Amino acid sequence: MTAKTIGIIGGGQLGRMLAMAAARLNFRTVILEPQADCPAAQVANRQIVAAYDDAAALAELASTSDIVTYEFENVPVAAAERLARDVPVYPPPKALEMAQDRLTEKRFINGCGIPTARFHAVDSQADLEAALADFGGKGVLKTRRLGYDGKGQRVYRSPADSAAGGYHALGGVPLILESFIDFEREVSIIAARNADGAVACYDPAENVHRNGILHTSTLPARISGETADAAREAAAEILAALDYVGVIGIEFFVSADGSLIANEMAPRVHNSGHWTEAACVVSQFEQHIRAVAGLPLGSAVRHSDCVMQNLIGDDILSVPDWLKRDGVLVHLYGKTEARPGRKMGHITRLVR
Ligand code: AMP
Repeated sequence: MTAKTIGIIGGGQLGRMLAMAAARLNFRTVILEPQADCPAAQVANRQIVAAYDDAAALAELASTSDIVTYEFENVPVAAAERLARDVPVYPPPKALEMAQDRLTEKRFINGCGIPTARFHAVDSQADLEAALADFGGKGVLKTRRLGYDGKGQRVYRSPADSAAGGYHALGGVPLILESFIDFEREVSIIAARNADGAVACYDPAENVHRNGILHTSTLPARISGETADAAREAAAEILAALDYVGVIGIEFFVSADGSLIANEMAPRVHNSGHWTEAACVVSQFEQHIRAVAGLPLGSAVRHSDCVMQNLIGDDILSVPDWLKRDGVLVHLYGKTEARPGRKMGHITRLVR
């Protein structure tokens, strides 16, 4: 039997971990990524070194792959749609379209019956002033597109903060002002759906961010069973609405009364799901490969409590110490230069 090939757009650590999971199930992988020797290509069968929207490269990816998936949500929608004419592309390109623009994303999530922060589109200084006035001078101003790890954001904590900067401070691009959510904690859920409509949800993780970047994910999250069920139900609604195939990550704020407010969704494997490789028999990476390849989904049951911690920049220097400890799974991404803020690896510590 000839092995099937999975094309992966994007060559970062998520692509790397997908390629490793794919190899265990006898799939070959081809990575499309402009940066040569990227983290994913180091463990894949082949890399096409080209831009994500390079027509010749996309044609080559389609002709060499049986299925195409992606590891980041800013894959150009036109490229994904073009590919989908020649080869199955999962998750569906519509999921990219819904997740790439925070305004579209919030409207879509609300349309699924799931609350988000209130929001206004901001395309001028006048829009910003009107939106801030509506929210009592408080809110979080974000770029609608291409923001990640807290980049492209500005928090207005009081009306006085408004003097700190305005519409143009974020580059004059389309923005969104969200109402400020006074949350008790942040959680996320990793869920998968296959082409038959079967859904598997991992337990919600409790996430702590530092400088806008995920620092730890802890299992179990300190939430009630009802709140956990609400997260699962929200995930199932979103997956069904998109006729989704693959793994999705959805982040929520948890209010003091336990109610959930969706923040954003990522149509891919997610940093807050890395713990699954240590605390579940089938990780989010294998689950994604199973879903896109039309295999049965695996169990999402968690066998251990755990804490996942990202190794950012110089945190990589702590690896020798982590390696000496029991019950710790160390996962490094093959990046040579430890720049500040760069995700170099992660550890998952089993708690029992
Ligand atoms: P995001 O890029 O949307 O994930 O936002 C990064 C982080 O900023 C979140 O994880 C929160 O800690 C915080 N944040 C984002 N939006 C809001 C909001 N509307 N209200 C309060 N905090 C927020």
